[in-house]
Amino acid sequence: MKMPTIDMGECVDCEACLDLCPSVFRRNDVGYIEVVDLEEYPEEEVEECIKNCPADCITWEEV
Ligand code: SF4
Repeated sequence: MKMPTIDMGECVDCEACLDLCPSVFRRNDVGYIEVVDLEEYPEEEVEECIKNCPADCITWEEV
């Protein structure tokens, strides 16, 4: 299956992914954006985040 990953070196913390897809992206306890562990990821919503991420730092990864 595939899951979204964030290149944290590029993330500018704009919160677009949190707004667009809060079931997949969240802010963790230490303040960074992260991907929630899910059995399956909603493809269209994640694609929306990929398109709208200003830093182009969200990609799919095969796991
Ligand atoms: S949309 Fe991209 S740059 Fe913005 S918080 Fe999410 S991962 Fe970071």
